[in-house]
Amino acid sequence: MALRNILTEDDPTLYKKCRPVTDFNARLHTLLDDMRETLDQADGVGLAAPQVGVLRRVCLVLDTVVPEGEAPILYELINPEIFLAEGEQHEPEGCLSVPGEYGVVKRPAFVRVRAFDRNGKEFEVEGTGLTARCFCHEIDHLNGIVFTSKCERMLTDEELKAMSGEEQDS
Ligand code: ZN
Repeated sequence: MALRNILTEDDPTLYKKCRPVTDFNARLHTLLDDMRETLDQADGVGLAAPQVGVLRRVCLVLDTVVPEGEAPILYELINPEIFLAEGEQHEPEGCLSVPGEYGVVKRPAFVRVRAFDRNGKEFEVEGTGLTARCFCHEIDHLNGIVFTSKCERMLTDEELKAMSGEEQDS
C-alpha cells in the first residue's frame, strides 16, 4: 500500500466526470488499498478517486452513524448510484481537497446507494445524517462537482472556531 497525494481545489482533475470501472482487477485493488491508507492518514470520512488523480467511479465512505460502541464501517463503492433519496438536511460539510473551509450544503436526510464491491459483486447500502451527506459528497466528486459550488453559504470564522475539533472532511 502507498499513500497518494490528495489534489486540492485548484486542480482541473477535480472538475472532470469520471468513467465507470469495467475491470475489477489488481490495479483497482491497489487503488482501493492506497485510497484506504490515504483516507486513514488524512483522518477523513470519505475519499473519491479523482481526489487522488484517478478519473474512475470509485470512492470510499466511512459510515460513522453506527450504534454506540461499534466501530465505523468503511464502504468501498465502485460505480455507485443513489437510487432512493428522502428528506432534507442542511449541515456544514468539508472536503479533504478544500482544507480549512466548511459550507452548508442541502442534502437528502436518507439515501440508498447501489454499487459494486472490489470483486464486481453488486450490493446496496443506506445512510442517514453525516453518512447520507458523505455518499452524496463522494458521488458528486465522481461527477466533477466540488461541494463549494453548491454551498448555500460558507461558515464564518466564528462558526469554524465553535466546531473546531469536530471537522469531518471528505
Ligand atoms: Zn470532498
